[in-house]
Parts: sequence; C-alpha cells; structure tokens
Amino acid sequence: MQKSQINVTTENIFPVIKKFLYSDHEIFLRELISNAVDATLKLKTLAAVGDFKEELGDLTIRVKLDKKKKTLTVSDRGVGMTAEEIDKFINQIALSGAEEFLEKYKKDANAIIGHFGLGFYSTFMVSKKVEIITKSWRPDTKAVKWSCEGNPEVVLDEVDKKDRGTDVVLYFDDESKEFLEESRIEEILNKYCRYLPVEIAFGKEKEWKDGKMIETGKDRIINNTRPIWIRKPSELKHEDYINFYKELYPTQEDPLFYIHLNVDYPFTLTGILYFPKIKNQFEIQKNKIQLYCNQVFVTDSVEGIVPEFLTLLHGVLDSPDIPLNVSRSYLQSDSNVKKISSHITRKVADRLQDIFKNDRKEFEKKWDDLKLFIEYGMMTEDKFYEKAGKFALLKNTEGKYFTFEEYKNLIRENQTDKHKNLIYLYATDKEEQYTFIDAARSKGYDVLLMDGQLDVHFLNHLETKFKDSRFVRVDSDVIDKLIEKEDLGESKLTEEEKEDLREVFLSAIPERDKFMVVFENLSETDSPVMITQSEFMRRMKDMSALGGETGIYGNLPDSFNLVINANHPLVKKVMEEKEKKTGTRISKIKEKIEPLKKTREELEKANKDKKEEEIPQADKDRISELEKKIGEYDEKRKTILRDYAAKSKRVRQMIDLALLANNMLRGEKLNAFVKRSIELL
Ligand code: ADP
Repeated sequence: MQKSQINVTTENIFPVIKKFLYSDHEIFLRELISNAVDATLKLKTLAAVGDFKEELGDLTIRVKLDKKKKTLTVSDRGVGMTAEEIDKFINQIALSGAEEFLEKYKKDANAIIGHFGLGFYSTFMVSKKVEIITKSWRPDTKAVKWSCEGNPEVVLDEVDKKDRGTDVVLYFDDESKEFLEESRIEEILNKYCRYLPVEIAFGKEKEWKDGKMIETGKDRIINNTRPIWIRKPSELKHEDYINFYKELYPTQEDPLFYIHLNVDYPFTLTGILYFPKIKNQFEIQKNKIQLYCNQVFVTDSVEGIVPEFLTLLHGVLDSPDIPLNVSRSYLQSDSNVKKISSHITRKVADRLQDIFKNDRKEFEKKWDDLKLFIEYGMMTEDKFYEKAGKFALLKNTEGKYFTFEEYKNLIRENQTDKHKNLIYLYATDKEEQYTFIDAARSKGYDVLLMDGQLDVHFLNHLETKFKDSRFVRVDSDVIDKLIEKEDLGESKLTEEEKEDLREVFLSAIPERDKFMVVFENLSETDSPVMITQSEFMRRMKDMSALGGETGIYGNLPDSFNLVINANHPLVKKVMEEKEKKTGTRISKIKEKIEPLKKTREELEKANKDKKEEEIPQADKDRISELEKKIGEYDEKRKTILRDYAAKSKRVRQMIDLALLANNMLRGEKLNAFVKRSIELL
C-alpha cells in the first residue's frame, strides 16, 4: 500500500468543490462517462495505427447502480491507466488563483470544471468516497486501485484486474441519495449521453410477458452512437430528418425546413437546424437548440453562439471549437464563435435562397409560417438582410406573393405620389378594412396584407431601407390623401357651413370625444363620410403594444378622423335639409352673436399692444362676459343642430355606414341601424 497526496496549491480542494459546485450536481455523470468515452476512443485510435495489437472486443461502457452498497460504477474497456499515469493525471491538479476564480463563477459549475480540468473531481460533489480500479492497455502493467475519501490523502494499491480498462466507483454521500434512483440516472443519461459515440449500457432490456414487464438478459443501450447530424447528407433521406426531429421534440408538428451543417475548415461544426412550424405567438420559444461537443450534450442555451434570430430555430449543433466552459460574455468576443455564428447565418440564408429558387411554389406555401424567422433575422442582422432581401416575400390582399423587387416594379408607376415618394399601401385585417382596400383597388392600387406578428415592426424597418418610400395603412386617410397625385380643388362649403355640419355629424357619433372632423374635396364617387386613423399615431400605439410597454403613445387614447366629403351629393342634401329645418332659428342666433363678436374684437384690438397687467380690469371683465354670452348662444346653436341630427335618419345612416365600414358599429347601435335601414327601405 502506498500513500500519497493530491498536489494542489490550495490547502484542500474538497470543501471548495462541495461548497461552490452546489448547482448542477448531476454533471458528475457526464464527466465520468465522457472520460470513459475518451479512453475508449483513444484505444480505438491506438488500434487503428497499429500500436495496440490485441482484440478490442466489446467496448460497451457500463453504468451500474448498487442500492445496498449505495454505489454507482462506470466501467470502460478503454486505455486504462498505470500507477504513474494515475499520479500524473489524477493526483496533480493545478489550482492557481483558484479561490478568486471560484468566487467569481460559483454559480457556474461548468466554467469551474472546464477551467481546472476538474472533470473527474466533480464526483466529490456527490460522493464521500471514490475508487478508480484501472489496468492500462500496455502489456505487462499491473492493475491499481486509487481511493480517496474526500480529503487530500489518497491511497494507491495494487489489485487484481484481468481486463484492461477502468472502473470508477462512487460511494454516494447522504445528501446525494437521489442518484440511487434508477429513474434519476436514466434521466441524466438521456440528457447528456443520448448521442455519445460509444455504446453505453444501463440495466437490461425489458419486455412484456404474461401481462408483466420483465427484464430480458440483453443489455439496454441508452444511446445512439451515430446520430444523423454526424452522417453525410447523401446517406440520409427526408424521413431521417423528420424522424430525428420527432425524437428531439415529440410534441411538435413537422418542421418547415431543415438545414444540415457540415464544416471542417476553419473550424469544425456539424448539426441540423430546423425551422419549426409555429401556430401562434405563445409557442415561440427560444433555446430549443441543443449544443453538443463531440456528441456530449453541453447546454440548450445557445445565446451568444448563434445570432439572436436563430435561437428561435430547433435542432442540434455540435462543435469542439466552441469554448463551452467560459462565461457568456467571453463567448461573444471569441473569434471562433464569431466565425461560427456568421457561417450559420450564411448557411441558413443560402438554404432558403435555394428553396426559393428551385421551388418557389413550395416556398410561397410555407412563407406565412416562415416569415416570422426571416423578418426577425432581417431586422436584427444586417448581413442576413442583404441576403434575404432577394427572397423575402410580400403578400398582397389577394394572396399573391412578390419579392421586394417585383413588388416595387408592380406599384412604381401607379403609386408614386406628387412628392416622388413610392407609397406602399397595406392592410392588417382583410375583413375589417375591406371598404378601404376596395376603395384603393378601385383606383388601381395594390394593397399588401401585413397581418403577421412582426409585420408592423418589419415595415418600420423596411422604411429605413427602401429609398423614398413610405408604408401607409389603407384606412389611415382617404385614398386621395394617402397617395397624393395633384392638388385637390377648392372646397364647396363655406367655413360657416362647415361649422354647422361639424356639430351635426359629431353629435351622431358615439364617443364623439375621440373624433376630429375633417372636410375633404373628394370625388362624388368616393364615400360621403369616412373614419380614418392617422398612420403615425396608430403605428406608435401598435408598436408599444407589441413591445409590451405603455410609453407615452401607448397611453394615448384612440383618436380618429371623421372625414366628410364636401363634394358628395349626400352631404349637399344634408346641408339643404339642415337649412330647411334649422335655418331661421340658427340665423337668428347668429345675428345675436355677430355684434357680440364685433365688440369683443374691438376691445381686443384696443388692448393688443399692452402687456397682460396693463389691460384695464374693466376691459378684461367685459371680454370674459362677452365670451360667456357668445358661448351660451353657441351652445344654443349646437343644441338646435343636435336636435336636427337626432331626428335626421339620413345623418344617422351616413355615420353608421362609416362606423360599419370600420367595424366600429356594434351592439345596440348596430341594432338601431338595422331597424332604421329596414324602415328606409
Ligand atoms: P479531463 O478529462 O478534462 O482531462 P479529468 O479530471 O476528467 O480531466 O481527467 C483527467 C485525466 O485522467 C484524463 O485526461 C485522463 O488522462 C485520465 N482519465 C480519467 N478517466 C479515465 C478513464 N476512464 N480511463 C483512462 N483515463 C482516464
């Protein structure tokens, strides 16, 4: 028996391991099995180059639980270690600047393990004692047993072991009893070891016999040693990709597309990325991509490794060149990671471009599902924007798809306004905005359908990219104002007439505070009354709603324009009717208001050049008295107009039609409208 010391610069590494590596205890098993896999692969290499000449035999790695002894054993038939190698590889641990580093990364066991090459020692997170029984592949070496009880004193013995390879035996401590459960070990194996390149056996296969599950004599292999991402794309069929997807995400619908990555210079990267089919925005999930390092699962948080928009994809990436045991902020500045990230972006764009070129029909069919990823990518990665600009599509309200270039050519002639801006008209809801879409189409304009989750953000982005172009929603103004061609003619209504009509129409609208009346000189064939909402205001509200914030725009109440077509015969009719019903009463009031206004004007004129404090108090009082009187008369005028409007079926009908066109007529008001329409018929 030989006693020796673990060589570390800190007094005692074990309390440190226990104290700091409190999270992620389960990774001890990943570390042990990775070591066993490495030892096995090393032996295969030695055999391949002819250094190892004996039979390789069964290379299965075995994981065994012994509930009575409270142990777990991982056995391999790899290279094994000699006593000298144990001393060199296991006993010597360099821990320079350890405490400082541990303090910094105490929540990240991966970083600590990677930094110190502490893989094997992570077993002490869960064990009170660990034994290594190992025999080297080299001829004429003796088997040795190393054992350690969680303190710097280790014992090395010669033992009997016929077979080459290594058994590591863990004696679990009292806090780690969970790992004695078969199901817990199975879960960990499934998570980290599912695609390791050497077969791993845990327990026996079970089968149904006489209505019971019984164990067969056959080893249960828990991993698939040749997952499809390491195979050649030429060996694989479409079903293989779909089956693998189902294996990774059993509850997901079939993916839209997949991309097989296979790079070996200047870095090594394999993997398969899938575009998932997303039914609604609650399903959007980041971090579904699994990251592997030589087939060992490392993490499913790929932020910082792939561009943000690709974190929405699914699948597997495998690269030994991604420094995994470092902090995220370090990752982002690593040059390999940068190369990998831009390579993936390029590959994704190339693949999409291929599909677009080779099978545009198929691409269009999937576009509605696909566009979320592409729009997100184009908004967040300029490089991707450049590439995707060639195949990204715009869909119009008739369901036709166009590339940016195609669409520009389609509308250039007809939708350029007098300021030389190209106006892209869009709708967000084909049904609700139907009247406006129809009005635009009857002018020969085309209307895009922008009803996706990101579309509002996306068109903001396009506006910054497209030269001399604007996007306007079809219902944000009357069509002749959206695409201004030539100046509209003089108004046929006088200011006075407008003032009366303003009150007439406003009074017929529910929630009139939300409306501003605007008069436009449109053509006789345009609608008489319309409701629009300013593009700017609505977009600001939409954006803050999407962002989940209630900024100043989010808090603004809705505000609409009530547009009255001053040239429409129906408006003229209302004018005439109003004159007939209210004319004399209103002109009497106006006669009373006139002299009051005149007096007020004179007073104001006299005091025009004076400062506020120089104006005589008497004048001030008189002005406010006059204003009060004018207000009272004006209120009378409005009351008369309101009474008229309330009785005028024509006015009510015109307003209701405008509300109806915007899907704003509901409930009781809608009911009243229907009844009134029947009466009028
Ligand atoms: P790492 O694996 O990162 O080098 P470890 O602490 O896990 O760090 O292992 C240290 C060394 O011990 C390994 O590099 C290897 O040489 C040796 N070793 C560990 N486990 C085995 C094993 N099962 N068979 C042979 N050698 C092993």
